[in-house]
Amino acid sequence: MRILVSACLVGLPTRYDGRSSPHREVIELGKKYCLVPACPETLGGLPTPRPRCEILGGHGWSGKERVIDENGVDRTENFLRGAEAVLEMVKLLQIDLAILKSKSPSCGKTFVYDGSFSGRLVPGKGVTAFLLESAGVKVLEEQEARLISSEY
Ligand code: SF4
Repeated sequence: MRILVSACLVGLPTRYDGRSSPHREVIELGKKYCLVPACPETLGGLPTPRPRCEILGGHGWSGKERVIDENGVDRTENFLRGAEAVLEMVKLLQIDLAILKSKSPSCGKTFVYDGSFSGRLVPGKGVTAFLLESAGVKVLEEQEARLISSEY
């Protein structure tokens, strides 16, 4: 089984601040499954480090919102391009499911920041998580990694 994972979860320094978010249980899955790391924001052409981005509107991405960075620059096109590149990878490599980093404006599956850059989380999805789920791809977040060994 092939699993797409947010690159930062396996220790790659792709986060906006140039750091990573290594998650032990996700990394451990690499002993049993083929992990394919990807970072939609860098695939979409954004540099690392980069300004923080959030989705305007207070409910995450549903296909028509705008994504802006903390300087007010519209980065929606980069986010869309990155999400589409990840979906293309999933199709090309016949990936079975994705484990994405929670709370990210790209990768978040259940909560994202509300667009005010005040640290407030709201229920909603990031751009890539939304696109993958809309295409029928099973998406989990890192806290659910332990479910994989028992379910698959
Ligand atoms: Fe990690 Fe996703 Fe953010 Fe890239 S876009 S740094 S993979 S959370």
